[in-house]
Amino acid sequence: MADLFLVLHTECDGSFSKAALESLSTAADLSSKLGSAYSVGVIGAGASAAADAIAGCGAEKFYTVEDEAVAAPRYSSDTKASAALIKAADAQIILAPGTSRFARCMPGAAYRTGAAVDTHIVALAVEDGKISAQRWYYRQRILTTLSRADRPWILLVDGGVSDAWQGDAGSAGAQAVAVDFGDADNRVVIKGVESPAVDAQTIRPDSAILFVAGAGWTKKQSDGEYHIGDAGVLIQGFLCKAGASLGSSKSLVDLQSDGQETLSFMSHMNQVGQTGSTPRHAKGLSTCCHGEEPHAVGWRFINERRAINTDANCGWAQGKADVVYIADAFEVMEKVNALLS
Ligand SMILES: Cc1cc2nc3c(=O)[nH]c(=O)nc-3n(C[C@H](O)[C@H](O)[C@H](O)COP(=O)(O)OP(=O)(O)OC[C@H]3O[C@@H](n4cnc5c(N)ncnc54)[C@H](O)[C@@H]3O)c2cc1C
Repeated sequence: MADLFLVLHTECDGSFSKAALESLSTAADLSSKLGSAYSVGVIGAGASAAADAIAGCGAEKFYTVEDEAVAAPRYSSDTKASAALIKAADAQIILAPGTSRFARCMPGAAYRTGAAVDTHIVALAVEDGKISAQRWYYRQRILTTLSRADRPWILLVDGGVSDAWQGDAGSAGAQAVAVDFGDADNRVVIKGVESPAVDAQTIRPDSAILFVAGAGWTKKQSDGEYHIGDAGVLIQGFLCKAGASLGSSKSLVDLQSDGQETLSFMSHMNQVGQTGSTPRHAKGLSTCCHGEEPHAVGWRFINERRAINTDANCGWAQGKADVVYIADAFEVMEKVNALLS
């Protein structure tokens, strides 16, 4: 029986993602805190070679499902494969990276193995042999510490909790777990992948800086005119030069759905805040955005916050930012872009 078991999936090219290697560090750390061994299961293309690549991680045993059915993400086959690994390892505590692939299938695997499952785990601790986990609730406002008596217990660990594991490759001697994939598991067929052009991808979680655009960019400016075209050039110029990730306020993206002329490269995916996302970046620059509480709550994990606003009484100036520049963002960003060139 494996008390502690880590389930990973490979990427389509057979490699492990950063999230996978981070969760490997988390599992190794938890194993040493528990003073017990751990095992690793891998699903996906090239699973056994991937297991060899992490052979030096200290895991006692490795299990793999490498069938063609799990070469690409798909709920039915991923759920079946993950449940098969958990059963093969007879695991009690199961960790997995909180990737979109596992976030989709692990609740199903939990149902099939009679396990409890918790998502978005940001810390794990052991006291008197008892495991506790932490996660945020209510849009990152309440941090809770929880424990469960249910076993098996599956925990999906968020990115950034540990450093990515680094170590020696070797021979993992992985045990292949046979899974009987039927027609129902293969019903959804992946015909191809369409990726946006690299420069069309504005959400960059690994970027050091988050650039947030607010509705002010689309408002009449001091000359009484709209300058939406100029705004687009300035924002995209900065994103390109600084490699920044693009965030937005709700008001700005709502304008787009209302049919008004706005910034075409923005969507609700960029929205930061209470009903948007809570990105994590070392620095954030808010421009033409008021800094209302429902927006600013999404900045919880931005370490250094700066804002540019023409209004000295804006929300950012009420203690929500480290530095507020009372200035015209069009002028400031033109100058910043020139300096970056
Ligand atoms: C339940 C609920 C949930 C919500 N969730 C979210 C959420 O998830 N995310 C979110 O963003 N909002 C959310 N909101 C809306 C939020 O309260 C604000 O309405 C919204 O964030 C305001 O967007 P804004 O600051 O871009 O626009 P505005 O409030 O219109 O502010 C525009 C700002 O631009 C400044 N400006 C204009 N021109 C310039 C210039 N040339 N240079 C510098 N500054 C300039 C103005 O001074 C002004 O401060 C939510 C609201 C509710 C009620």
